[in-house]
Amino acid sequence: MNKAGIEEIKVEGKRVFVRVDFNVPMDDQLNITDDTRIKAALPTINYLVENGAKVILASHLGRPKGKVNPKYSLAPVAARLGQLLNKQVFMAKDCIGAEAEAEVNHLNNGQVLLLENVRFYQEEEENAPEFAKKLADLAEIYVNDAFGTAHRAHASTEGIARYIPAYAGFLMKKEVDIMGKALENPSRPFVAVIGGAKVSDKIAVIENLLKKVDILIIGGGMANTFLKAQGYEVGKSLVEDDKVGLAQELLIQAQTAGVRLMLPTDVIVAKEFSPDAPSRIVKVSEIQPEEQALDIGPESSEKFAKAIIPASTVIWNGPMGVFEMAPFAGGTEKIAKAMAECQGATIVGGGDSVAAVEKMGVAEKLTHISTGGGASLEFLEGKVLPGVAALQDRQ
Ligand code: ADP
Ligand code: MG
Repeated sequence: MNKAGIEEIKVEGKRVFVRVDFNVPMDDQLNITDDTRIKAALPTINYLVENGAKVILASHLGRPKGKVNPKYSLAPVAARLGQLLNKQVFMAKDCIGAEAEAEVNHLNNGQVLLLENVRFYQEEEENAPEFAKKLADLAEIYVNDAFGTAHRAHASTEGIARYIPAYAGFLMKKEVDIMGKALENPSRPFVAVIGGAKVSDKIAVIENLLKKVDILIIGGGMANTFLKAQGYEVGKSLVEDDKVGLAQELLIQAQTAGVRLMLPTDVIVAKEFSPDAPSRIVKVSEIQPEEQALDIGPESSEKFAKAIIPASTVIWNGPMGVFEMAPFAGGTEKIAKAMAECQGATIVGGGDSVAAVEKMGVAEKLTHISTGGGASLEFLEGKVLPGVAALQDRQ
């Protein structure tokens, strides 16, 4: 990545504003139910602490829509972060103004302060310059480690970088380096596996990847639209009739680009969208009008695995079936295992896909699991993320 990282600058004694992604899930009692996002920011926070910076952390949490709402306070996150760092984390009741300034002024080198939810101000999402300036006024250096919100040009992800020098944190750098290399200079063969519910969510990803990959595997609900484009009857399967023409075009684009496009040849069908519904394995030519395809079949997953295992780079976005229901999780599981077996660079992005590899216990065997659902999707679309573009170029 040609963006400058925090290891390139002197941070000792400096007030460093770090945008992190602490948008963690919580239950009704405001207990954090998954602290993965907090843990993902620890390398950057620990580095700054160890190097004597005054660490000012900022994040959004939920959708408070520009209003102060205790339900979306970051206070529980400060407590959990304190446990993880084994160190006191101070909590500011505001993210700008006198309250925040007073807390910042109390910080000694190596101490950590968490500002209150930046989305308590509507100016955050509006990227209002006055608000961004107020955030910037708290610090001398800006660090963005929130890859998950890098696709949004908000005050704390983009606007602030206009006022103080801006650098990439370790998580940001890792995300952009690994996915950037895969897209710009991949080791080949390069295989992309795209699945999930709908083609319409991923048109731009498919179009961008068709220019880059050697093999494109399409599974999941979206495969039905491609199967229909090839003339198969898909019964009651999830299908986007208005995208059949587009699927036909994409099939032609793949052919022109010399990309091997693989679709399921068999599927698991049921008459109901239910885990208890009796299911059967059929060839894609044998789907009955009252049936719906809810997973790829064993023949397909075997073929897909055979393409994935010897690859040098694999990017996977979107499950192969309704993996939330055990009878339809087999295809996704087979792909997850093939990814784990593959010796090349293996990258997974997308909220549900990440949940699937974690559920299937293969997460540790993969090269990279992206922390950003929407951000990783836009990255794979080939878009420039505003939160990345705003960072200083490496000297
Ligand atoms: P990601 O979050 O990884 O980008 P998506 O959100 O695009 O993935 O898709 C995930 C959803 O797609 C899952 O909820 C899954 O149940 C659904 N899905 C996958 N295959 C099918 C199918 N054949 N029919 C209906 N839904 C499906
Ligand atoms: Mg999803």
